Amino acid sequence: MNKAESSSFEQLLIERSWSQAKDEYEADLIIINTCSVRATAENRIHGRLGRYTALRKERGNDFTLVVTGCMAERLGDALKKQFKVVDYVVGTSKHSSLIQIAQAVEGDKSLDLIRTDDHYHFDPLSYEKGTFKAYIPIMQGCNNFCRYCIVPHVRGREISRNPQEVLDEIDILSAKGVKEIMVLGQNVNSYHWDKKHNKSWSSYDKGGVALGSVEMDKQSNAALNDDTIINFPDLMRMIAIHIKEIHSSIEWVRFMSSHPKDISHQLIDVIAEEPVICRHVHLPVQHGSTKVLQAMNRRYTRESYLAIVAYMKEKIPEITLTTDIMMGFPGETEAEAEEVLSLMKEVRFLTSYMYYFNPREGTPAATFDNQIPIEEKKRRLQKVIDLQLLITREEMSKRVGKMVKVLVDGVSKANKSELVGHTEQEQQVVFEGDIAKIGSFEQIYIQSLQGNTFRGRII
Ligand code: SF4
Repeated sequence: MNKAESSSFEQLLIERSWSQAKDEYEADLIIINTCSVRATAENRIHGRLGRYTALRKERGNDFTLVVTGCMAERLGDALKKQFKVVDYVVGTSKHSSLIQIAQAVEGDKSLDLIRTDDHYHFDPLSYEKGTFKAYIPIMQGCNNFCRYCIVPHVRGREISRNPQEVLDEIDILSAKGVKEIMVLGQNVNSYHWDKKHNKSWSSYDKGGVALGSVEMDKQSNAALNDDTIINFPDLMRMIAIHIKEIHSSIEWVRFMSSHPKDISHQLIDVIAEEPVICRHVHLPVQHGSTKVLQAMNRRYTRESYLAIVAYMKEKIPEITLTTDIMMGFPGETEAEAEEVLSLMKEVRFLTSYMYYFNPREGTPAATFDNQIPIEEKKRRLQKVIDLQLLITREEMSKRVGKMVKVLVDGVSKANKSELVGHTEQEQQVVFEGDIAKIGSFEQIYIQSLQGNTFRGRII
């Protein structure tokens, strides 16, 4: 999401005839788009702001510094007070302020007050020049409040994008020859658009409380029967049909992230029926123990997760799954940690993003008194990493000697005479070929596996 938003800022400036500076010494405007999801991401921004404080001493006031994104939303003007080098703090969904800032810099004026009331949540285009892969944000925010996560506190409640805007963006990307799109949202499966009133439909009740999934299903189904709501599977179907109708250059459509409590049989059926949707789903399980999942407030169980995976594998046998796993949540026992390993063996994720619980200031779990010692968290995490490496190796080895479709990304960094691309499962493949093939789909015969990279040859 952060990358998509950065690309949209870039588009916004290019449209106003700005160009990219060589470095921070010649830039008139520096925009730092921040992430708050982990403390380490914020620490890096502190380091960066320290560097720009030194730059201010060197260059004086001949550049404007803006901090935007989740950290700007979370800390607001406190950030400006802490780092005098910061000229403007622009939170999420206040991106129109960036246009005002650009105008002020162009006119060599300063703004006393940034108007923040005309929010727009979705930038018109998140295209990065010269790429074959583009991101399309379709919803923002989160209503789930997992007890370890800062996102709902900085991104606000869920809001969905007008489906027509999504299709219009596909038209623009197709005209630019984009081959692959990633449909984005903090919880893509929560996408709901109210057709009747032409606005985002929320799963929040009037008291501001997130409805449980049963209640939400009831409302969704009632609304669906009424034929007034476009939900996420409907949107994915619309996207697939539109791509066919306009003979788009797009051949792969991905989506992320999916919350396991919201992924539906309807969505799985749409993936099975629409070949343009990649047979690769990232479904963050976070843990293998129902008790820990409840403590996290994830609102699904080990059993319901395994049931949805079983349905997926039955309907789409070639599907691959990746996930996120968090070890050492407060109160996790040794036996519960073992449940993660048994779940991994059952699902056989192709890869996982694995980490240990890191208390996040501003979230309930940071204040729990049954924290796990850091050494123990690391030990449990290591067991998970070791198992995942083994499964990844075994799963990837199964593809050696087979043909795969690859999107050619560019020249290999390690060897300039080779090309590099990725598969539908987002695995890297290196092979010999002409640079004219960059940006095209190729059939590659996989010859071997080196680390996590395939080596192959073009057929
Ligand atoms: S679903 Fe949970 S982990 Fe994901 S963004 Fe929302 S609160 Fe965070």
